[in-house]
Amino acid sequence: MKQVNEYIDFIFTNKDPLLEEVLESIKENGMPSISVSPSSGKLLTLLVSISQAKNVLEIGALGGYSGICLARGFGVEGKLTSLELEEKYANLAYTNLSKAGYGNQVEYKIGPALQSLEELRDSEQKFDFFFIDADKENYLNYLNYCIELAEPGAVILADNVLAGGTIVDHNMPAKRYTEFMKTFNKSVAEHIKLESLLIPIGDGITVSRVKKEM
Ligand code: SAM
Repeated sequence: MKQVNEYIDFIFTNKDPLLEEVLESIKENGMPSISVSPSSGKLLTLLVSISQAKNVLEIGALGGYSGICLARGFGVEGKLTSLELEEKYANLAYTNLSKAGYGNQVEYKIGPALQSLEELRDSEQKFDFFFIDADKENYLNYLNYCIELAEPGAVILADNVLAGGTIVDHNMPAKRYTEFMKTFNKSVAEHIKLESLLIPIGDGITVSRVKKEM
């Protein structure tokens, strides 16, 4: 998997000084280096663009790497709402999105994502694209909220669904969230309201489309 990903990154992603600066700023601020991979970032840009999504919800901002990739997909017309637990992280993400030219198109909601999702549901806001990339234990809860907040035909992505390969390679020591991801993937695959697939780039991303009519 590592070799395949290195090959894909090498062939399909270009040097990106802006995103490299984002990764540097994350290190400088003592934050964890757990942004999406370059290819995963490119997939986010492509899928937002292809789906013509304009109202994107991200769960887990860190330093804004995936946020920039999502915003690149909608360009000048869309809006990103991003949920982040840590105020310091959201502040850096906002700084980085502003440097990238999307400062006026992003809103950070700071606090536990479940609480922010509850508030979004109460406000009856709808979204046409979702990216789940926060605490793995809550992925199923996040998925259910996303479905409730989704416009018909919306796209829902979730990252790290291969749990570093431990989902399939039983010789590797399991991660804390390996079992959660097994359950999550099965639920995504079988969900009556979704059409889904798992794309094995980066650490694995599920791509789902919310069915238009039930
Ligand atoms: N999507 C980011 C990117 O690729 O640039 C990386 C996100 S990082 C893997 C996970 C983020 O989720 C961290 O910034 C962490 O603080 C945040 N997080 C963890 N638990 C959370 C929670 N309960 N609510 C909201 N955010 C949470």
